[in-house]
Amino acid sequence: MTAVRSLKTPEDLAAAGLIEPQKLDGIRAIADRYAIALTPTVVSLIDRTDQNDPIARQFVPDPAELLTTPEERADPIGDQAHSPVKGIVHRYPDRVLLKAMHICPVYCRFCFRREMVGPQGDGTLSPEELSAALAYIREHPEIWEVILTGGDPLVLSPRRLAAIMRGLAEIPHVKIVRFHTRVPVVEPERIDAAMIAALKESGKVVYIALHANHPREMTETARAACARLVDAGFPMVSQTVLLRGVNDDPAVLGDLMKAFVETRIKPYYLHHPDLAPGTSHFRLDIAEGQKIVSALRGNISGLCQPTYVLDIPGGHGKAMIGESAVRGEDGCYSVSDYRGGEHAYPPK
Ligand code: SF4
Repeated sequence: MTAVRSLKTPEDLAAAGLIEPQKLDGIRAIADRYAIALTPTVVSLIDRTDQNDPIARQFVPDPAELLTTPEERADPIGDQAHSPVKGIVHRYPDRVLLKAMHICPVYCRFCFRREMVGPQGDGTLSPEELSAALAYIREHPEIWEVILTGGDPLVLSPRRLAAIMRGLAEIPHVKIVRFHTRVPVVEPERIDAAMIAALKESGKVVYIALHANHPREMTETARAACARLVDAGFPMVSQTVLLRGVNDDPAVLGDLMKAFVETRIKPYYLHHPDLAPGTSHFRLDIAEGQKIVSALRGNISGLCQPTYVLDIPGGHGKAMIGESAVRGEDGCYSVSDYRGGEHAYPPK
């Protein structure tokens, strides 16, 4: 069945055959707490013959979400601890997040901001709150980059997006505006001439970071939407979350990274999954993640290598957690090659 509108309720999912009727009560309990949305594009990507379909796993609620483990937390990366005014997260010296709204076209079941996004989430900034957020950026000359996230900023109408971009245009020390989005993959039709014109409104350098987790998301339509952005002059980078049952396999991850590079998107971050509530079924151990990432090294092009990172719980920022190829000290090192061989450096 091809959906013609987004599926947003357990009943929608049952009617579309994406959950079994006997699971409806459990899924309703999840829907009371976490938002649900699958766009028609995402629904069309789901392989209904595969019980473990990696697309369905990302978007169709699972009863496992009702389990919250002791280490999980509502704000796993500590946004609140670094929010001086509503809508701003100022965690690092030279950049801020600007969270203008908390709506997404899809709701990922592993979302690190799942307690903040959705119709019952932290909402959209009022005009006064947006002015206060822009004033904060204006008053902090150290802010070189503004990252629009949320929520997914490309669900804003081109008119509202253009207004935000005009606000940023008036702040000379902001040189870079970055967008974190899933839209080119899950709702590619939104990337039209009006959206591109809005993105150009600030006159700043605009980067687009695309969030995608499985090579099957990189359809011809998604690639065409990304091409419209790159052709318009916006460099693109990728963000992927390492997820059990979705991409915890070097072959799958490698194909995804190649798909990015073929689409002129430079692989950027591979995120270790955050400690968001009800997401333990997606998490793997850091050592498992390191093995998967190490298997990419050397075997596929250097262009295809993401940086494996962990957002340290509590708001302490990102740490690079890939395995180091070098051990030793005092000018005497052992370096491992991509086949597992060990070599002294400098050579003896
Ligand atoms: S698109 Fe991003 S913010 Fe929205 S639900 Fe998915 S991970 Fe969360």
